[in-house]
Amino acid sequence: MSKQYDVVVIGSGPAGYVAAIRCAQLGFKTACIEKWLNKENKTIYGGTCLNVGCIPSKALLDSSHKYVEAQGHLDVHGIKVGKVSMDVPAMIGRKDKIVGQLTQGIKGLFAANKVDGIGGTGKVSATDKVTVTAHDGTEEVLTAKNIIIAAGSVPIDIPPALVNGETIVDSTGALEFQEVPKRLGVIGAGVIGLELGSVWSRLGSKVTVLEALDDFLPAVDKQISKEAMKILSKQGLDIKMGARVSGSTLSKGAKKTVEVNYTDQDGEQKETFDKLIVAVGRRPFTDNLIDPAIGIELDERGFIKVNESCGTNIPNIYAVGDLVRGPMLAHKGMEEGVMVAERIADKKTQVNYDLVPSVIYTHPEIAWIGKNEEELKAEGVDYNVGVFPFVASGRALAANDSDGMVKLLADAKTDRILGCHVIGASAADLVQQIVIAMEFSASAEDIGLTMFAHPALSEAIHEAALAANGHAIHIGNRKRRK
Ligand code: FAD
Ligand code: AMP
Repeated sequence: MSKQYDVVVIGSGPAGYVAAIRCAQLGFKTACIEKWLNKENKTIYGGTCLNVGCIPSKALLDSSHKYVEAQGHLDVHGIKVGKVSMDVPAMIGRKDKIVGQLTQGIKGLFAANKVDGIGGTGKVSATDKVTVTAHDGTEEVLTAKNIIIAAGSVPIDIPPALVNGETIVDSTGALEFQEVPKRLGVIGAGVIGLELGSVWSRLGSKVTVLEALDDFLPAVDKQISKEAMKILSKQGLDIKMGARVSGSTLSKGAKKTVEVNYTDQDGEQKETFDKLIVAVGRRPFTDNLIDPAIGIELDERGFIKVNESCGTNIPNIYAVGDLVRGPMLAHKGMEEGVMVAERIADKKTQVNYDLVPSVIYTHPEIAWIGKNEEELKAEGVDYNVGVFPFVASGRALAANDSDGMVKLLADAKTDRILGCHVIGASAADLVQQIVIAMEFSASAEDIGLTMFAHPALSEAIHEAALAANGHAIHIGNRKRRK
């Protein structure tokens, strides 16, 4: 007889492992199936985020940032250091250690919560069955009252630059370079392209980013994206907009390089790189995941179709995370995992899709929540703008980290906060304060009347809120009303 579960989760990325843990906390007998193997051929939990996404990329961003600081930003504090050098394998080794620690942590959480972690590839084989193919080829069928599909996403391939794992890599390969490429090409000026381009540029690569669109970071408030372009270019990233890659040729000699062809406003161009990162987005991973006879609907882009509670068109089958609509972000998937678990337990939990924070972990960070100016204009909303530059923040100056600004948008009639956009050190943590405020429908005045510790970077949030109502203290007031 097959093993019986209340809930079987396929995939142990942030959406899947969080769903599994919450289900177990709610008293459901739960299994979580994961096909990923580590270098020792052992099942490893945590998905893209922990293994090859959020965490390893931030580890390398932090290491490379420290290198830049040590190289040229300590003098100003009076700290003299000798010649600074970079041991790339040691940096990659540190990253791997953090990944190992966190993925082991998920194993521990599964044990503590009594989630059955099962290694192998899961397939929804009936409305209440998941067939698991173990790595030795043996099959086991699990019976499930509820199934949560959380198989995530994989990098998109483009025919003009097919990944070969050596000269042309995807984001996963770009986390594994053992030496700094002299000339690095990056296709795609999205979040992943900019973060990974920054890592290697800081370590000495001459980085060219090729982006097909004319508009830099189209989802970001224009004032902020303009500032980002200025700062990142100054840091050495050569970001070519309107540059569509049309082909690539690998060198024949012993020295492995790749020549990339692209078209821009001046016509056909080419450039040679030692490594090329393809970072043109990710696609939902649904390959061989569901027996088509079950009839689970996908949308035209291959995402599993779900309602606002992540239910598919088949009762008791849910889908969460990167393989359903919405931004491909770990925290969005985690909250969906919690929502589905609680819905299975007959609670009325919802995800507020209007308040999913976005972050680009360059330095300075870029983070935002809610509407930007362009969106408010398009919607015909009357709004006030409050901007506070970090150059006027005592804490930012003390830290010698004063690039960027906080921009807060509030409804002109009600003063309710409509959006917050930050480029600056710790932007992710600063914007989070406004995510909380917006969850409670706060007004700019509410933030203005709140006491902020001094000196702290978050005072910039306070001042931007005051500025939105025309009475910032630490900057001249040029209240803009639209
Ligand atoms: P995944 O994390 O992709 O996990 C899916 C899991 O399912 C995988 O482990 C896979 O092996 C498993 N699986 C698939 N099919 C099967 C099957 N049939 N049987 C068993 N197991 C299966 N997001 C952020 O929020 N912040 C960041 O800073 C950030 N940085 C990123 C940096 C990079 C370089 C990349 C690539 C991504 C980054 N992301 C970031 C995105 C984030 O990683 C994803 O949004 C998140 O991992 C999605 O979670 P998920 O659980 O839906 O899927
Ligand atoms: P994101 O979806 O945020 O990861 O960003 C991926 C980026 O890659 C998008 O801005 C795309 O416009 C860009 N892109 C996709 N295909 C190409 C191409 N052939 N040449 C250059 N840029 C591309």
